[in-house]
Amino acid sequence: MIRLYLPLLLGCIFCGFVAGSYAQRPLPSNKELASPQIEKRVDALLRQMTLAEKIGQLVQYNATQAHPTAPEKKSTAALNVNPPGPGGVDSYELAQKGELGSMLNTVGQELTNHFQHAAVDQTRLHIPLLFGADVVHGFRTIFPVPLATASSWDPDLITEMGRTAAIEARTAGVNWFYSPMVDIARDPRWGRCTEGAGEDPYLGSVIARAYIRGYQGNSLGDRNSVAASVKHYAAYGAAEAGRDYNTTDMSDLLLRQVYLAPYHAAAQEGAATFMSAFNSLNGVPASANPYLMQTILRDEWGFNGFIVSDYTAVMELIRHGIALDAASATEKALTAGVDIDMNAHFYDKELPALVQSGKVPVAVVDEAVRRILRVKFALGLFEHPFTEGPEVTRAVPEHRPLARRAAEESFVLLQNKPVNGKPLLPLTGNGQNIALIGPLADDAPDMVGAWSGANNFEDVRTLRQSFTEAAQQEGFALAYAKGTDISGSSNIGFEEAVAAAEEADVVVMALGESSDMSGEAASRTHLDLPGNQQALLEAVQATGKPIVLLVFSGRPLVLKWASEHIPAIMEVWFPGMETGPAITNVLFGKTAPSGKLTMSFPQSVGQVPIYYNHLPTGRPIQFPDPAHPDAYVEKKYVSRYLDESNDPLFPFGYGLTYTTFAYKAVAISNQQVSAATLMKDRKAKPVVASAVVTNTGEREGTEVVQCYINIRGASTEQPVRSLQGFARVTLKPGESRKIEFPLGFEELSFYNVKSQQVIEPAEYTVFIGGSSLADQAVQFVTLP
Ligand code: BGC
Repeated sequence: MIRLYLPLLLGCIFCGFVAGSYAQRPLPSNKELASPQIEKRVDALLRQMTLAEKIGQLVQYNATQAHPTAPEKKSTAALNVNPPGPGGVDSYELAQKGELGSMLNTVGQELTNHFQHAAVDQTRLHIPLLFGADVVHGFRTIFPVPLATASSWDPDLITEMGRTAAIEARTAGVNWFYSPMVDIARDPRWGRCTEGAGEDPYLGSVIARAYIRGYQGNSLGDRNSVAASVKHYAAYGAAEAGRDYNTTDMSDLLLRQVYLAPYHAAAQEGAATFMSAFNSLNGVPASANPYLMQTILRDEWGFNGFIVSDYTAVMELIRHGIALDAASATEKALTAGVDIDMNAHFYDKELPALVQSGKVPVAVVDEAVRRILRVKFALGLFEHPFTEGPEVTRAVPEHRPLARRAAEESFVLLQNKPVNGKPLLPLTGNGQNIALIGPLADDAPDMVGAWSGANNFEDVRTLRQSFTEAAQQEGFALAYAKGTDISGSSNIGFEEAVAAAEEADVVVMALGESSDMSGEAASRTHLDLPGNQQALLEAVQATGKPIVLLVFSGRPLVLKWASEHIPAIMEVWFPGMETGPAITNVLFGKTAPSGKLTMSFPQSVGQVPIYYNHLPTGRPIQFPDPAHPDAYVEKKYVSRYLDESNDPLFPFGYGLTYTTFAYKAVAISNQQVSAATLMKDRKAKPVVASAVVTNTGEREGTEVVQCYINIRGASTEQPVRSLQGFARVTLKPGESRKIEFPLGFEELSFYNVKSQQVIEPAEYTVFIGGSSLADQAVQFVTLP
C-alpha cells in the first residue's frame, strides 16, 4: 500500500509546487531567473520536448568518452580525474540526440565548441550545453587557495578574483563554476577546509556573496559571467572526526545558525545553482534530503536556480544504504530536489522507466528541466552558444598584479619577536647573507594548492626565483638548500642546510604541506610539519641563527614547537602564481602583512574541533565567585583538559603586521532598543557600535577591525562571542579613525528552538578589537 501511495503523494506535492504561486513563498532568490520573458521561453520549449529530451537536460557527462572526431584535450590538464562513464556511452552521441544537458570539467574552446555544435546544430530543439568546471581559485592565473584569500578579509578582492577567473574561463568555453565552497570548517583535520572561508558564519556569508558577485557579475547574461554553484550543500564541513565524506549530525539550531548561514547568503545574492553534498545529515544523505533542498532552500529561501549532485553522489545513495538500486537512488535524489545527476549516470538510465511507471511524476522532471533551462536562458546561451576570440591558455600577465596582491593580503604574520632588539621582520636585505632552506622554496607544483588543475606549473614564480632576483636588487648574498623532501624520512640534505645556515645572518625556511595534502580526500590526524621537516627545522634552529619560518599549508597546522623556538613565523598557505614576488615583497617590507586567521590554530590535535564561537558551558575555567563578585575563581571541576590549555595557539581573527594598533573609545549609540521593532523592520540598523583605532607604530599599516557580539538571557544558548562586523582600514603612523558598526536584525538575531530567526529581550555585549580576543566592550539591552 505504501508503495502505491508514496508516488501519488509526491506527485501532489509537486502539483502544488508547479501550479503554486510565489504568493505563499518568499521572493525568488534570483530576479533574472524569475523573469517572465524567460519563463515564457521555458514554457514554450518544454511543451515541445519529448521525455527523452527532458531527461537529457538532467544528464551530465564528461568528455572522457569523447567522440573520435573530438579534438584532443590538449590545452589543459584534467581538472578532475574522472573515471570513464559507463561502458559504451558516448557523450558526443548523446549531445547529437539532444539527450545531454551539461558537461563536466570539459575545458577548452575547441573541445567545448565541438560538443556545443552537436547540441545546438544537430538537434531538433537546439538547446545549448552548460560546461561546468572546478574553477575554484582562478582558471589559468591561479590565486591563493580560498582559505588564504579569506584571511584577507577583503571581499572586494575576492570579487575581483572571481571576475578575473570568469573572464579567463569563458574564453575556454566554461560557463558554470563549481564554486564557491562555503562549508564552515571547525576541524583542520578535514582537508577541504582549504577550499572554504574558515570557521565563521558571518565572514563566510560575506565571502560567499563576494564570490557570487564576481562570478555572476551584474547579470548572468553578461558574456563574461558564469553561473556559480554553491557547494557542498550542506554541512559537509562538519564531517565527524574530520574524515572526508563522513557523517554529520547536528541540531537544527547549529545547522541554521552556523552551517547554513553562508548558503543562505549565497542564495540571497542570487547564486544560480547549488551542489548537493556527499555526506548524510542527521541520518539522511544530503543528496536525497528534501528538508535541505525543498523545505529550506526552495520553500524558505525562494531559491529558483537548479541543484546538481556532487560527483556520483546519486550512486552513493546505495552505499549510504537508503537506496537498494539505481532506480530507487534516482527516484530519491530527484524527488528530494537534485536536478542534475553528476556522473552517476543513473538519471539517463533509470528515469524513462520511472516516469513511465508513474513512480516519478513527469511534473517532477518538468520542474527540474524548467530550472535548468532558466539558467541557460539567463546566461544567454541560446543567443551565444559558442566561444570565440582568443583563448586564455596560460596565466595572464595583466592578471598577475591581482594574484600578487591577493597573496600578499592573505599572508598571516603569526609571530615576529625581536632579535637584537628589534622585530626580525621585515628583513633588511642589503649587505646580508641570507640562507633560503626547505622543500617548498623552489617547488612550483606545490605553490598552487588543491583544485588548480587548469594551471601550468611553469607559470608559477617560486620563492627561490624571486629571492635570486631580489638578491641582485637589494644587494644580499643568497644561499639555497632544499634540506629534505616534503614527506619521507630523508635527512640527506640536512648537512648542506645546516652549513648554509651557519654562514648566514638570517635564515628563511619554507616548510609545510604539499598541494595534495589538503583538498578532497586529504584528511590528516597529525597536523605537524610532514615528513622530516620538523627535524630539519630543529637542526637549523640549533645553529642559533635567526629564522623566519614560512608555513605553506592548506589548513591550520600545529606549530607549538616553532612558536616557542622560532622568532618569526608567517603562514603563507598556497599562494598561487605569484608566490615568489608576494613573499619577497612582504619579507623585505615593500608590503606589510595584513591577513588575519579565519580558522583557529590548535596547540595540539587533541583540541580539535576548535573554534572561537563556541557555546558557553556551566563550568568555564574561570567564573565569578558569588561570594566575591569581583574575583574570578579557578576550580577543579571545570571544562578543561588535564594536559593542555583550552586556548588555541593562534586564535580566529589574529594576525600581526609591521606596526601596532590601539583601540579606545569603544561606544554604543543606545543603551536599549526594542526587540519588536528590530523584528519588524529588518533593514533598519538602530544601534551603532563604534571604536577609535590608532596606528601606534612607525609605519603605515592595515588593520582588520572586528566587532563581536555576545547575547545573554535569550531562550537559546548563544556563542561566547560571534563576529558581526569588520572593516579593513589603512592608517599612517599616528593616524586615528573612528570605525562604526551599524547593527540591526541581521547582526543581532539568532535561532530559537522552533528554528525561527528571532530577536528576544536579552543582554548584548559588543567587543571591538583586532582579533577574537578583543577585550574592550560595551553593553546594551533589547526590550520587549
Ligand atoms: C567534489 C566537488 C567537485 C566535483 C566535480 C567532487 O569530487 O567534491 O567539489 O565540484 O567533484 O569535479
